[in-house]
Amino acid sequence: MRGKCLFGPVWSRRLGSSLGINLTPYKTCDLDCVYCECGVTTVLTVRRKEYISPEEVIENLARYRESLRFREAPPSYLTFAGFGEPTLNSGLGKIVRFIKEHFPQSRLALITNGTLFGYYPELFAEVEGVDLLIPSLDAGLETTFEGINRPHPSLDFGRYVQGLIRLREHFRGEIWLEVFIVEGLNDTEQEIEALKEKINRISPHRVHINSVDRNPAEDWVRAPSWERLQQIAQVLKGEVIVSSPACVLSPSHP
Ligand code: SF4
Repeated sequence: MRGKCLFGPVWSRRLGSSLGINLTPYKTCDLDCVYCECGVTTVLTVRRKEYISPEEVIENLARYRESLRFREAPPSYLTFAGFGEPTLNSGLGKIVRFIKEHFPQSRLALITNGTLFGYYPELFAEVEGVDLLIPSLDAGLETTFEGINRPHPSLDFGRYVQGLIRLREHFRGEIWLEVFIVEGLNDTEQEIEALKEKINRISPHRVHINSVDRNPAEDWVRAPSWERLQQIAQVLKGEVIVSSPACVLSPSHP
């Protein structure tokens, strides 16, 4: 899959059939989350540029639109996701405009760590055509942010949260905030209370609680118990999106 800018469509529990669009080379991000399923960040940067040219992405999308696969079953979502942070690609706005014009039958989602909205105000205009934004916030306290997300040294936690608050004020589509919980790092009472305060200020449309499902970047990363995840979801007024143990054990689970 490395080097390709489109993948799928894959089935997503939240989005249905979703064509993934990758905008960065492996693995370019401004964070190095201990739980990242793509592995450890090899290019830790806050610099925006055309890591994969928008022309290349648009050419691939145009080819996909002509394919039999698309014509027979257009995906319910086109989703920016992949091997790094999509908002690092400065061609994002151009690609969003192309998709809105040429894929009217599908919704457009952006899965992002959300950190750069506090740094690059032009991003607000670039994501205007997106229907659903899924940003992350895993910490209520700066020290926890550093421990779990291992940010680029120039990133400031307060500015990151402020960016998410402004995003909620400006963005006209839906925002589903994702909170990834790691046992021993951000599952304490103190941390969850601090997270709750930040989430209340951001006021997303939904809160999704996630935890380790596949291979994390660091093999010591563990999920809290299912019961603890449910308790946290209750405090944060969210829902757990990771599969329950019973579900994972069920032979009918895909
Ligand atoms: S922000 Fe996403 S891509 Fe970047 S390290 Fe964290 S989980 Fe991985």
